[in-house]
Amino acid sequence: MTAERIPDLAVIGAGPAGLSAADIAAEHGLDVVLVDAGSQTGGQFWRHPDERHLAQFRAPESTGHHHWKRYVDLRSRLAAAVQRGAVRHLSGRHVWRVDVAADLVHLRTTASIGTDQVPATERTVTARRLVLATGAYDRQLPIPGWTLPGAMAAGGVQALLKSNQVAAGRRAVVAGTGPFLMSVAAGLAEAGVEVLAICEANSYLRWARTPLRAVQEPGKLFEGVEYARTFLRHRVPLKMRTVVTAIRGTGRVQQVEIAAVDGRGRVRPGTERTVEADLVALGWGFTPQLELAIGLGLDTTVDVDDSLVVVADDRQRTSHPLVYAAGEATGIGGAVQSCAEGELAALAVAAELGRTVEEAALRRRRRRIDRGRRFAVGMHRAGPVPPEWSSWVTPTTTVCRCEEVTAGEVAASVCDLGADDARDVRVTSRPGMGLCQGRVCGFGLAQLVTAHTGRPATAAELESIAKRNIGVPITLGEIADLVPLTAERADS
Ligand SMILES: Cc1cc2nc3c(=O)[nH]c(=O)nc-3n(C[C@H](O)[C@H](O)[C@H](O)COP(=O)(O)OP(=O)(O)OC[C@H]3O[C@@H](n4cnc5c(N)ncnc54)[C@H](O)[C@@H]3O)c2cc1C
Repeated sequence: MTAERIPDLAVIGAGPAGLSAADIAAEHGLDVVLVDAGSQTGGQFWRHPDERHLAQFRAPESTGHHHWKRYVDLRSRLAAAVQRGAVRHLSGRHVWRVDVAADLVHLRTTASIGTDQVPATERTVTARRLVLATGAYDRQLPIPGWTLPGAMAAGGVQALLKSNQVAAGRRAVVAGTGPFLMSVAAGLAEAGVEVLAICEANSYLRWARTPLRAVQEPGKLFEGVEYARTFLRHRVPLKMRTVVTAIRGTGRVQQVEIAAVDGRGRVRPGTERTVEADLVALGWGFTPQLELAIGLGLDTTVDVDDSLVVVADDRQRTSHPLVYAAGEATGIGGAVQSCAEGELAALAVAAELGRTVEEAALRRRRRRIDRGRRFAVGMHRAGPVPPEWSSWVTPTTTVCRCEEVTAGEVAASVCDLGADDARDVRVTSRPGMGLCQGRVCGFGLAQLVTAHTGRPATAAELESIAKRNIGVPITLGEIADLVPLTAERADS
């Protein structure tokens, strides 16, 4: 690839979706540029210790990873494509904005690691098409004490285990809903942590309502059996219809209040008990990372699990003709599903740009994705946020930790000031306006406002909470140095 040539495809994200897209696109003759904020590929699912310092770790780079062989294959295909000049891999580079002008996509990037500055002339990456594969982040709900040190997002606990082989505590409770809790609890138990309980807010019997969805992904059933064996070996109790209602401690987590709940999440009186723990891993699923998508004005919708997702057609094309989306940006469905979506997006771009692509290859991926989607819908229906979860919250519970906004202030915004959706609440009492810009509290805030208004959040409302014109903090110098685009910005 020469320096002047405009790449056919830019891929943002080197997780399962982005890696698969970059490999397939390169193998179909496209010039690709792959941009990822991480220093190495793998995304969240295949997060692993820094390969430059493997000797310092107790175990090999893969510990507790499913489908590791698949990752090794994707990684070596990427290395081969980089070697032959078909892919330029920009690691440690965060995309903070995407613009479309003169039928090209322009990615504004900044260094995400260390203090190295990318030269101003190289900060904008231009390509003919874009695959957005930016993944997701943890969903949290505010409960009393969730801001104490030692109360962590389940994904954060998992990330520490996978990339640093560090267990975040010694006596843990894992709580929330969804199969990811099992993965985290198994990882902690294998790392020598005493897992006192997995508190699953729902009952797995909910799967019985949609048995056909459960059998769409037999691999997941095997994973479930594997986890069950680990729990038996380490004596980890799995408690269904059980939640953490409060976390207490002086300066850090010391005690965890657990209670049984009914199908709506109401505490069953008399079931409350306290356990001594120093770690609580909380997870209510994941929510797509959409600042770039929203900045581009892509159509979004509210998915079955109440998260905002990018709308993509049967070839992963978004509402913008130059932009495709793959992986969890289009809905939470797991890593295998993300790979299939990445492959389909790349094949669709290759076909659109005149490369030879067999229709059968497109159809095969589509069928795989449809099957995965049926499973994902079953998973979301089996593990919803219980409708009465807000009954665990007290007026003094912190909702937004950056701006220190409490549940009482959110309630006052709705009930006293007449705010009728999360947007209004944000403007009146500032939750989601601090450093994290609602990434941590946005989902919980929307759910809390719904609990007061009785009206589910709309896509427009969720978009306004997730909208960030500048995706990550950058310096004023970087704005001053912006290289003008080849034409006036045209969003269409
Ligand atoms: C913290 C966390 C831990 C998880 N752990 C597990 C697990 O152990 N097991 C499991 O089954 N599922 C896990 N998941 C769910 C997991 O995200 C998916 O199933 C899978 O990784 C999705 O693949 P993806 O390619 O869509 O996204 P991801 O794997 O999330 O990859 C997205 C990539 O995009 C990059 N990126 C995002 N935005 C930008 C940007 N603006 N500029 C540059 N790069 C960007 C990120 O650095 C990342 O590498 C986890 C999720 C989270 C949030």
